[in-house]
Amino acid sequence: MKTLLILGASGDLTGRLLLPGVARLIASGRAPGLALVGAGSDDWSAQKWQERLAESFADALAPGGESTPAGIKELKAVAKASTYHQLDVTAKGELGQFLRDVQGPVALYFALPPAISQKACQVLKKKDLPRGTRLVMEKPFGSSAESAHALNVTLAKLVAEDHIHRVDHFLGKSTVLNIMGLRFANRLLEHSWNGNHIEKVEIIFDEDLTLENRARYYDHAGAGRDMIQSHLLQVMAIIAMEPPATLGEMDVRSSIAAVLRASTVGNAAKPNLLDSSRRARYTAGNIGKRKVPDYLSEDGVDPANDTETLAEVEVYINNWRWAGVPFILRSGKALGRARKEAVVTYKAVPHLPLGFNGLDSPTRLHIGFGPETLTLDLDVNGPGDLFTLDRVRLETELARDPLLPYGEVLEGVLKADPLLSVRGDTAEECWRIVEPAFAAWKAGTVPMEEYAAGSDGPADWTTSND
Ligand code: NDP
Repeated sequence: MKTLLILGASGDLTGRLLLPGVARLIASGRAPGLALVGAGSDDWSAQKWQERLAESFADALAPGGESTPAGIKELKAVAKASTYHQLDVTAKGELGQFLRDVQGPVALYFALPPAISQKACQVLKKKDLPRGTRLVMEKPFGSSAESAHALNVTLAKLVAEDHIHRVDHFLGKSTVLNIMGLRFANRLLEHSWNGNHIEKVEIIFDEDLTLENRARYYDHAGAGRDMIQSHLLQVMAIIAMEPPATLGEMDVRSSIAAVLRASTVGNAAKPNLLDSSRRARYTAGNIGKRKVPDYLSEDGVDPANDTETLAEVEVYINNWRWAGVPFILRSGKALGRARKEAVVTYKAVPHLPLGFNGLDSPTRLHIGFGPETLTLDLDVNGPGDLFTLDRVRLETELARDPLLPYGEVLEGVLKADPLLSVRGDTAEECWRIVEPAFAAWKAGTVPMEEYAAGSDGPADWTTSND
């Protein structure tokens, strides 16, 4: 890829995540020959753009870490040559005209509000796009299965599906490859990786952060749309997918799609969404020493939006391997303990030889997503009485790509590899899966519960190893 054109160059995502990700990528020597161009509706001077780059690139420019001397030199050169252009991307012909003057393939990054991205794609014409153009779409991708489908139709008029990158920065290379390496390189595990042996799988993303000035976005999204509809369903699919033949995007993304096509919130045995989805909102409390106000009195929050800050859904994958096994997806803000992991709980043994005592909990495997760790909880004969079983924990670190999540995403884009992006059909499936729960929440069928900021959530919401 020759050029990365960021639309929405003055925005929050660009400054906080995208530019630092680009900088790490270039400074580590993993994006040679890239030109960086910014565009936005504001009339920014060249100096203002250079100031933004300097601020966002500062970490990567500092010696140490993964930056190499040659990479740092390249990053400085990229920054110096980078230009900013005032463009209204929704105005007919404006972006198209601009693109006609760009040489070579372009990655067009839509770091724009979703409605603006959609409009920009509607006014773009295929003939305006330089050969090899890649479109990079941010989340949320649509706001329902129907609108995601409509957006897919619009994009398909511009470029081929494998030239569209629907970003899910949670789907980082480390997460995907760590799960796949663990599952498919170990015969011991894969043999028992099914509903015959596994009781339940929990995928938990609890944050101790609150709104962090993002009420404008979050108060419309809530925990369900922000995390479960996108990131957690993707992680679930990788944990549950059939072994692909290769790590190529075609094999991996087809296996992911097959899982999601088979998934529903609740199942025939649990059809009532009251039994398979919950939502809650934080009230005032303390997170460590930090005083947190009631969510409804946070700046920018509209009580009429009825937004949840903690959500949980029980998804069933209705296929031979997983029928009847609950996949519990939970995410929330303002919790007392940050926790990012998948917990696989095995069924109890069918019979424990009489004479043993002390069997405590079932075998559990924890896959940590930050820090990246693998932990196995087992009951074994520990020191002391041979008849008494003790709980032991075997723990190891897993690989972590030193690039920031957005560096990983961008590397895929620049190398023209959509492995880590969400395929169009999958984006629609993710909405289809959660829409019944969201509708039940909106209708008030599933009540809004409360929890104090800094707590573990409502008292009766329990997760394994609480
Ligand atoms: P912001 O509102 O901070 O930035 C939006 C950008 O779009 C601004 O640079 C704005 O430029 C530009 N823009 C708006 N209208 C036009 C137009 N007609 N033509 C050209 N540029 C325009 O949004 P965010 O950066 O927060 O979010 C961008 C996308 O990233 C969203 O889809 C969001 O959901 C997603 N996202 C954001 C995250 C975050 O942490 N911020 C995290 C994950 C995803 P100007 O100010 O000049 O009008």
